[in-house]
Amino acid sequence: MSQIGALITHPPSEGVEFARIEGEIGKDKGIKVRTLYTGICGTDRGIVRGALKFAYDPSGFDFQVLGHECIGQVESSNSDIFKKGDLVVPLVRRPGDCPNCRIGRPDNCSDGNKHEAGITGLHGFMREYFYEEAKNLVPVKNKDLAKIAVLTEPLKNVVKAFEVFEKVSSRSIFQNEFSTNEGKNALIIGSANEAFLYSFVAREYGFETYMANRHPIEDSKLEMCANFGVKFVDYSKDVNFPTNFGLDLIIDTSGDPSTIVRFLRKATYNAVVILFGTNGRAPDGVITGADIDWIVERNITICGSVDAARIHYEKALDLIQKWHLAHPGVMDRMITGIFKPEETNIFTVKPTGEIKSVIKWNELG
Ligand SMILES: [Zn+2]
Repeated sequence: MSQIGALITHPPSEGVEFARIEGEIGKDKGIKVRTLYTGICGTDRGIVRGALKFAYDPSGFDFQVLGHECIGQVESSNSDIFKKGDLVVPLVRRPGDCPNCRIGRPDNCSDGNKHEAGITGLHGFMREYFYEEAKNLVPVKNKDLAKIAVLTEPLKNVVKAFEVFEKVSSRSIFQNEFSTNEGKNALIIGSANEAFLYSFVAREYGFETYMANRHPIEDSKLEMCANFGVKFVDYSKDVNFPTNFGLDLIIDTSGDPSTIVRFLRKATYNAVVILFGTNGRAPDGVITGADIDWIVERNITICGSVDAARIHYEKALDLIQKWHLAHPGVMDRMITGIFKPEETNIFTVKPTGEIKSVIKWNELG
C-alpha cells in the first residue's frame, strides 16, 4: 500500500499538518487524478483555525484531507469520458437525497444532508493524488489553463450568484432602454479573491462596477481592477460613497452586518442585494425602521447565495478561457503566491497583497 503526502485536519478542532496517508483511499471510484494545484481560501483557513464548527471528518476516518479548490490531471482512468493526461476540476459538493440534490442541484440542497470535499465529511484534494468518479469531474480542454483553472471553484460561486440575480431581476424591467445593464451600478463589498471575481463578472454583465473596502488596497490589486474597468473605493476616506447615484446591484463578500446595512441605504429602486460572504464572528449591525421602509418602498430584494452546480463550473471555465484570451497574463497575476505543501503557515499567516495563494503538488505531465 502506498503512502502519499497530504494536508490533514481534524475538524472542528483547529490545526493542519502535512502528513503521510494511505494513497489508495477511494480507489474504487476508478479515475486517478494527480493534483496540480489547490487554492487556499477563507474556508480552509477557518477550518485550520477551528472556527468552522459545521466541518467534520469523513465517516470511518479520524482526519479529513483539506482542500476544495483544485485542478488536477488524470493519471489513469476506467472511464470512456476521461483519458490519461486530461485536465479536470473536481466538484466540491456531493448530493444527498433531497429533491434538489436528486435533480443535480446540491447547491440548493433543501435538508443539508450533502457533503463537501475538504469541508463536511468528505476528503478534499490537498494530497498528491486522489480517486474520483467521472460524474464528479469537469473537463478542462485547454492545457494553457493548467494553473489558472484552479480559480474555477471560487468563480463557479459567482456564476451561480449571477444566476440568482438574473432570476430576481426578471420580476421588473431592470435593464435600460437598450436591454443592457450599461449605466446601472454594481457594488462589490470586499477586496479578496471572490470580490475580484464578482467584479469581473459584473463587468461582463455591463455594470459600472465598484469594489469597496474600508482600507486602501495594494497598487498591484488596483492594476488588476483597472484591467477589467473596475473602480476601487476606499470608503474609510470616501465616507459618503456613492453620493450622486444609487446602487442597482450589491454583492457582499464580507459578511459584516453594519457594512451591508450602510450600503443597503444606497440601494435604488428594484435593486438586488446578494449576500455571499459569511462571518459568524462579525458584530451585530442595526436595521432601523427607516431601513425597512426604504427596502419595501423600493422593491429591494435581498437574497443569499451559496455554492454552485456543475453547470456553473462549466460557465466559470468558459469565462476563465475568455479572460485568458482577452487579458493575456492577467489571470496568472490573480495567483499571487505558489507554496509547497509543507509550508503550512500559509493557513495562519495571510501574505501581503494576496489575491489567491495556491499549493503546487505536481508538474503538468
Ligand atoms: Zn440535498
